[in-house]
This record gives sequence, structure tokens and C-alpha cells, in this order.
Amino acid sequence: MFDRLSSLIIALTLVALAAIFALMAGGDLLSVLILTLAGVAAAATVHAALPSSLPEPGAAASEGADAPLVSLLHHPDFARWADQEKEPVIGTANNIVTIANDAAIQLLGRHIVGADIRTAIRHPAATDYLSQPDEAAALQVINLADFPRSGQRWTMRTATLSGNERIIFLVDRSALDAADRMRSDFVANASHELRTPLAAILGYVETLQDMNGEADQPTRSRFLAIIDREARRMQQLVIDLLSISRVEADRFRRPTALIDLGAIVRATAAQIKDGEDKRAADIVTRIEEAPFPLEGDAAQLGQMAHNIISNAMKYGRPGTPVTVTLKRKGEQALLSVADEGDGIAPEHLPRLTERFYRVDEARSRSVGGTGLGLAIVKHIAERHQAKLHIASEPGKGTIVSINLPLKAGD
Ligand code: ADP
Repeated sequence: MFDRLSSLIIALTLVALAAIFALMAGGDLLSVLILTLAGVAAAATVHAALPSSLPEPGAAASEGADAPLVSLLHHPDFARWADQEKEPVIGTANNIVTIANDAAIQLLGRHIVGADIRTAIRHPAATDYLSQPDEAAALQVINLADFPRSGQRWTMRTATLSGNERIIFLVDRSALDAADRMRSDFVANASHELRTPLAAILGYVETLQDMNGEADQPTRSRFLAIIDREARRMQQLVIDLLSISRVEADRFRRPTALIDLGAIVRATAAQIKDGEDKRAADIVTRIEEAPFPLEGDAAQLGQMAHNIISNAMKYGRPGTPVTVTLKRKGEQALLSVADEGDGIAPEHLPRLTERFYRVDEARSRSVGGTGLGLAIVKHIAERHQAKLHIASEPGKGTIVSINLPLKAGD
């Protein structure tokens, strides 16, 4: 209310007035003098104890607001944080780039620092958004399609700071889009694969119905055999589709059961040999007697062996051996299946484990292939931290080998 000096003057005036009233009231001079001196001393003590200036209420706040603001973009920790970010981070003031992290420089070039952000990110959606005043630019995620190259997609998000400053975040969504595309391609391919045999079944059933029992026995038998074959193909496709979705779902779950790979490969080969396939007699097994302990999923490993043995039977020349070998190589088990057949041209080798990829579609269909066998093998091998290798010599044959790590110490 009063400043320090006014308070002192008022206190001394009050002491003087008190002394005058005391004298007028007939007080003795010595007592009045002593009381006056005590009053002066008290006023001086209080004056000395008061802070040099008492802040007005709210003064602290206004003082803080008047002090120059430290910009977040210029704080040394901002650059430190931004450079640790893997995705591009850009700071702007009045739309001029003042800071860009390594990822942003890599994406847009070093020249963006000092440039207008709308020319740095050359994309119409970004330009429109960044041209709006800060208040109008609500917290939205802006899609940058075909950025920075055709077929790629990034998203942009901004955080508005005071003083016309912004932080701009860019995120690469291209891989996510590719995964989405793969998923929808897979559904489209699977539907197409199912539709083909289904159309054949419906067509032959309709024909038999139209014939109204007039078809001769051989014709009826032929049609029924086609229906049977197509229905089995659909059944195999459904089995393989279920298998691939199961192995994909298990991808990150390490198998923990202790199993013997030797017993699994032996049982799988024996089961195929005992089956009705014309090539069953061509299977030759060379399985070492040693134990092959590993942590694995017995059903999946059986399926893996089954798929590569049946491929060798399907694509190898009839009457030539299909050799199944299992041996130890240090801490690894080496499973390989060799056939003598047409082999595979080198350009196809990297794509064989893609879902529905076939070198010769008609041939695969004629032998009952679904195009999923090696994709399933790849997933099972990955889950068991195994390495899949396909070596082939056109005109001679193919060797599919899988290296599986054995349980350490066994
Ligand atoms: P499919 O069900 O068509 O056999 P896979 O995924 O098992 O599907 O194999 C993919 C393609 O790889 C096959 O269509 C075939 O063209 C080729 N392939 C696989 N194994 C062999 C092999 N042992 N010899 C020659 N080609 C093979």
C-alpha cells in the first residue's frame, strides 16, 4: 500500500504527534523523551526490516510475461532430441525452416534450412495446410500421397508454438501401405484360387442335372471324377490357407517343446511312402542315427518336411529318386531334399516363397499345387530360426535345404 520511505515518514509523524499529546497531557519531559526515542528506534527497525520494494499483487506474473521468451526451437535440448528422432522433424518460424533434424535433411536436402517450408515440402496438400494461420490449422494428419516419389505416402502433422513457430513431423507410411496392399492382394488371390475349382464343380453338376440321367456311364464317371478332383483341390487350398494363417500367427512365438527332428523326418517320409502317390516308391531316406534335439513345434516341422518332399515328388521326373537327407553339421541339423527334374531358372528362385507364386501355373495346378507350400515352409523355418536355401540347375534338378540350430549342449 505504502512504499518503504512513506511508511517511515508516517511512523515518525505518529511518534512526534504522540510526544506532543503526551507533553500537552502534562507528562514529564524525561518520560516523553524516552518514549519518543523508543518510537523512533521502533520505526527505524521496522524500516530496516522491510524489503526495499514490496511487489504489487500480480507483479511477479507480469514481470515473467515481460521477460524475453526462450523459444523451444532454440533450446539446445530441442536439437538434441530432434536428432535422436528417426522420423523427420522440422522447426519453422513464420514458415521459414529454422531447424531440421538429420532425417529431415536426408529426406528433403540440406538446403531446406532457411527456406520456406512450403517449398521444402513440395506437395499441394502440405502447401495448403501450412498456408493457413496457426489457429485454423487444427490438429490434423495430412496425407502426402506420392511423396516424395510416386507410389510412396507420408503423413504430416504440426504442433503450434508461440511466436508463429511450429514443429512439423513427417512419417513414412509407404511400408504400412505395402503391407496393406499385400493383405488385400492375398485375399483377392485366395478368392480367385477358390473360385476356379468352384466354377468347375458348379458347371459339371449343372451339366449332369441338365442331362437328367441321360448321360452314359463313362461320361457320368468322367464328370464325377472332375468334380471330385476340383473339390479336393479346394479342400487342399483351404487346408493350406488355414496353415499359413496359423504359422503367421505363431511367427513371434518361440517353440519351447524339446523334440527330435530325426524322428519327425523319419515319420513324415514313412507316411508319404505308405501313401498312394505313384512316386512313393522313389523316396530314398538318408537319416543319420544321431539324435537331433531341438526346441520346436513337431506338427509344423512335420509339415515343413512334408511340403518339400511332396514338391520334389511333384516336380521331379517320374521314376527318379527323391532323396531325403538329415545330418548333423556342428551345432546344426541339415535337412535336404533333392530331386532330378526340370529344375528352376535362377530368376524365379528369389520369389518361390511368395504366396501363390508359381513358376508354371498350369503345371502346378495339374499336380495339385496351391502355390502356398513354400510360403508355409519359409514361415516355419523362420519361427525355428532356420535358414532355407533352394539350389537348382535347370534340366538337372533341385535341392531344397534347411539348416536348423540344434539345442545347445546336446
Ligand atoms: P505349389 O503348390 O505350386 O507347388 P509351392 O509354394 O510349393 O507351390 O512352390 C512354388 C513353386 O515353386 C511351384 O509352383 C514350382 O513352380 C516351384 N517349385 C517348388 N519346388 C520345386 C522343385 N522341387 N522343383 C521344381 N520346381 C519347384
